[in-house]
Amino acid sequence: MEYTNLGKSGLQISRLSLGSWLTFGKQIGDDVAERLMDIAYENGINFFDNAEIYARGKSEIVMGNILKKKNWSRDSYIVSSKVCFGTGGQWPTQKGLSRKHVIEACEQALKRFQLDYLDLYFCHRPDKKTPIEETVWSMHQLIMQGKILYWGTSEWSAQEIMEAHLFAKQNHLIGPIVEQPEYNMFTREKVEVEFSQIYKTVGLGTTIWSPLASGILSGKYNQDFPANTRLGIEGLEWLKDKNITEERIDKVKKMALLASEINLSLPVLSLAWCLKNPNVSTVILGASKEKQLIENLESIDAQEKLSEEIMQKIEEILNNKKELAPY
Ligand code: NDP
Repeated sequence: MEYTNLGKSGLQISRLSLGSWLTFGKQIGDDVAERLMDIAYENGINFFDNAEIYARGKSEIVMGNILKKKNWSRDSYIVSSKVCFGTGGQWPTQKGLSRKHVIEACEQALKRFQLDYLDLYFCHRPDKKTPIEETVWSMHQLIMQGKILYWGTSEWSAQEIMEAHLFAKQNHLIGPIVEQPEYNMFTREKVEVEFSQIYKTVGLGTTIWSPLASGILSGKYNQDFPANTRLGIEGLEWLKDKNITEERIDKVKKMALLASEINLSLPVLSLAWCLKNPNVSTVILGASKEKQLIENLESIDAQEKLSEEIMQKIEEILNNKKELAPY
């Protein structure tokens, strides 16, 4: 496993991590979740990602029970939660980034996890109804109380991140150190263009999500629709429509040929491509089966096969790179 500083913080994070969206407490049994965490930890993964909304709180309960059972040293792993969407409550105070919800949601997440503190706490989305100042103060307060160690954002714009950062700086508060954006071969602009300045100025770290675009970049949707997969789950039609398009499948088929030329599986090639971006601190893996996770771990070593020539061939297939205008 490789480790890196999360942004300019001192936190050493593994370059691959494990997430629980749609799997823990939902698609997979708790026994499978436990095996996945075991495999991850045994292979050096030290970051486990979660959120209050995942399976409406159940994902944190499942992960917390596993952490308790494993009894791994608390200083050996990093665990996160995210606040904004709530756990399904309909009252307006049960979601968003107000001081009330941020503080209460943190308390509730800690109870579900059975932990004393979270290492990372993310604002899951920007909240247009709450001043950013209030959220920054709340996060700072949680750090001062020892309930979280670092905080970050998810799917915030560069402008919102800078606003939070500058307010924190002016008021001697602790600002966000990390953003969690979607990043994969099909969704690139935020990570590659929009944030390009703040990696340098603020020292932003990134924990990127859906590196396989919900599985389409594994190539398994190239022919007939496979059974028992995420994009076949009832209620996730929106995710299927977003990810499975003729244009994407066409590119994935070409990418599969390239992968086999260099003796990599397509998911491994797709994940190694994300890792090659130096502004990606960690690639959060999702898996519903042990063998997927075991395969995906190969992406660390696979990076060396992605020579400049191969990266160029990938660009030609994707044909979707956006450059930052120099002037
Ligand atoms: P991916 O895009 O990598 O999708 C993971 C899914 O793809 C798996 O659950 C599995 O689904 C399939 N898969 C994975 N590996 C393979 C393989 N080798 N061969 C075939 N199929 C494979 O990642 P996620 O979308 O799960 O995102 C990762 C994590 O990021 C989440 O768990 C969560 O922690 C975080 N996240 C954060 C968000 C945010 O807003 N901040 C939003 C979304 C995710 P199946 O077997 O069911 O087909």
